Amino acid sequence: MSRKRKTFKFSLNSNRDGHMTAAIVVGILVAIVGITTERNWLLYTAAVVVAWEWFATPDVDCASQRRADSGEWLLVCLIWLPFSWTVSHRSFLSHSLLIGLPIRIIYVALLIGWPLNHLTDGLLIEAAHLWPSVLTGCAIADATHLLKDGYTPMQMLFGR
Ligand SMILES: [Zn+2]
Repeated sequence: MSRKRKTFKFSLNSNRDGHMTAAIVVGILVAIVGITTERNWLLYTAAVVVAWEWFATPDVDCASQRRADSGEWLLVCLIWLPFSWTVSHRSFLSHSLLIGLPIRIIYVALLIGWPLNHLTDGLLIEAAHLWPSVLTGCAIADATHLLKDGYTPMQMLFGR
């Protein structure tokens, strides 16, 4: 099999490449809706869909098994190591919209948001008007991820 064909097949699987491809496609669709309906806040949402899947994907629950990987995924795995030590892969604590998503949002807020806000003299608090766009992007990214993992709508909400 040629390298090109293998890469294309990989981008359709339920792995890192496949999930990133889906997030980029959905992010572009959200951006198109934002532009055509003149709802600029959807452009922030579109960017967050891709960024959230890259940085805080539900699959960070297996970060400890992937720390030997190289590149950008290594940095992501290092940040999520404590999370992955306590949450098993595809647990409802990582793979659900009502439980896993809020847990990861709080994790990012405590580990990165709070120190960043402190270092920038309250920049994140000042940008509070963007939070609904950001949270919408996080939810769309997770919903896309869970759909690709084969979850039903009820499983998407509460986990398996
Ligand atoms: Zn997953």
